[in-house]
Amino acid sequence: MMNFTVMTLFPDMIKDGLNVSIMGRAIDNKLINVDVVNIRDYSKRKHSKVDDYPYGGGAGMVMQAEPIYDAYTDIINKQKEVNPDIKKPRVIYMTPQGKLFNQTMAKELAQEENIIFLCGHYEGVDERALELIVTDQVSIGDYVLTGGEMPAMIMIDAISRLVPGTLHNDDSAQDESLTDNLLEYPQYTRPASFMGLDVPPILLSGDHAKVDAWRRQQSVLRTFKMRPDLLKDAKITKKEEMMIANLKKGLQ
Ligand code: SAM
Repeated sequence: MMNFTVMTLFPDMIKDGLNVSIMGRAIDNKLINVDVVNIRDYSKRKHSKVDDYPYGGGAGMVMQAEPIYDAYTDIINKQKEVNPDIKKPRVIYMTPQGKLFNQTMAKELAQEENIIFLCGHYEGVDERALELIVTDQVSIGDYVLTGGEMPAMIMIDAISRLVPGTLHNDDSAQDESLTDNLLEYPQYTRPASFMGLDVPPILLSGDHAKVDAWRRQQSVLRTFKMRPDLLKDAKITKKEEMMIANLKKGLQ
C-alpha cells in the first residue's frame, strides 16, 4: 500500500478533496492511504498560532519552523512504532520555487512506499524547517497559489493513478498523454455520427492492428501540433521522424 502523509493547516481540504471518485475507491480498497496531519496541533502558542512576521520586514506572515519540525518528528516516530525498519520517507515541500512536476516525476514517485507532503501557506515556510526535514521541493506550475494543499492533492492524484489497481483497467494509464512523452490520440464514443461529424471509419473497422497504427500516428501528430517540445524526449521511429520533417517543411 502506498502511504501519503500531508502536513497542512487545512486538513479538511485534503480529506474532502481526496475522498471521492477514483481516489476515494483506492483509499477504500487500501491501495493507498492518506494521513492528514494538522500542523496547528503542534503549536505551543496561544490560540494555536503557527505563523509570525518575517525577520527583516516585508509583507505577510511566515509559517514557523518549530510546529512543522515537531509534526514531522511525531509522524516519523509513529511510523517507526508500526514498522521499526521503515526507511526515511521522501518529504516534499510544495513551492512555486521547486522542480516542475510532470508525468516522469509522477512515475518515479509511484515507486516509493511512503511520501510526506508539506503544504505552505501565507508567505511560505521558515527556511530552517525546509533545511531540516525536506528532501524535495516541487512546483506544479509557474504561478503562485495561496497554499500547497491543491498542489499536494494534484501530486497524490497523479501518483496514485500509477499504483497498480487504482484504475479499473491498468492499460488506461499506459497509453495516456505524456506517457513516453507523447500525447494521447483522439478518443470517440457512441454515437458514430454527431452533428454531422463522423468517427474516423478505421475505428469502426474492427481491425486492431490498423486501429493501433492509426492511434500511434495521431499521437505523434497531436504531439507535434500541441506540444512539440515533448518530441525531443519521445521515442519515435525513423518513419515518424520523416513524417514530422515533412510537416515542418509544409509549415515553412
Ligand atoms: N512567497 C512564496 C514565494 O514567493 O515563493 C510563495 C508563497 S505561496 C503564496 C504559499 C504557499 O502556496 C507556498 O508555501 C506553497 O506551499 C504553495 N504554492 C503556491 N504556489 C505553488 C505552486 N505553483 N506549486 C506548489 N506549491 C505552491
